[in-house]
Amino acid sequence: MRFEIVRIRKLAYTSLCYEPLHPEEIKAKRKNDWAKKTPEERQLANKNVTVWHQEHPEKTNDWHYGWEKKNPEKRMRSVKKYRSSPRGIVAGRRKTKRHMHLVRAGGLLDLVLFYQKCERLDWHCQLCGKILDESTATVDHIVPVSKGGTNDIENLQPLCLKCNAKKGNRPMSLYVTGNNEGGLNG
Ligand SMILES: [Zn+2]
Repeated sequence: MRFEIVRIRKLAYTSLCYEPLHPEEIKAKRKNDWAKKTPEERQLANKNVTVWHQEHPEKTNDWHYGWEKKNPEKRMRSVKKYRSSPRGIVAGRRKTKRHMHLVRAGGLLDLVLFYQKCERLDWHCQLCGKILDESTATVDHIVPVSKGGTNDIENLQPLCLKCNAKKGNRPMSLYVTGNNEGGLNG
C-alpha cells in the first residue's frame, strides 16, 4: 500500500514537474522506447490507443476540439494550408460537386428503380433507339440537375453514352424539338 502511494507520487512528480521541463529528453526516451519494441508490440500499442479513444469518445473529443477552440487561428491556418494543397483541392472539389448534386437533385438516385424503368422501355436508348444493357445504359436526367431536375424516377431515362454526351445538360424537350435556345449547336 505504502509502496503504491510512493509510486503514484513519483509518477505525479514525473508527469507534472519533470516532463514539462525536459521535453527533448522525454521525446528522445519515447522514441527510444518505441524503437525497442517488436512489430507485434507496436501493433498492440497502437491498437490499445485506438481502443482507448473508442472507449473515451468524450475525452477524445475534448482533446481534439479543445485544441481547436483554444487555437482558432492556428486551426484556420492549417485548414487553409490543407485546402490549398493539391490533395485538399481535389477533396474539396469532389465534396462540393457531390454535395451540390445531391442537394439540387433532392436525394440519391435509385438504380433499382432505374433498371426497372429500362425494363419497361425495353432497354432502348431514348434518343437513337440503340439496344442497351446494364453496362452500356447511362442515366440521363430528362430535366438536367443544373436546370432544377430531380433524381425522381420520372425524370430519369436510359441513354447510350454517345447520346448522353451529345445531349449534355440540355433539357430533353429542347433536344427533341431542335430549339436552339438551350445552347444547342448542330
Ligand atoms: Zn443513343
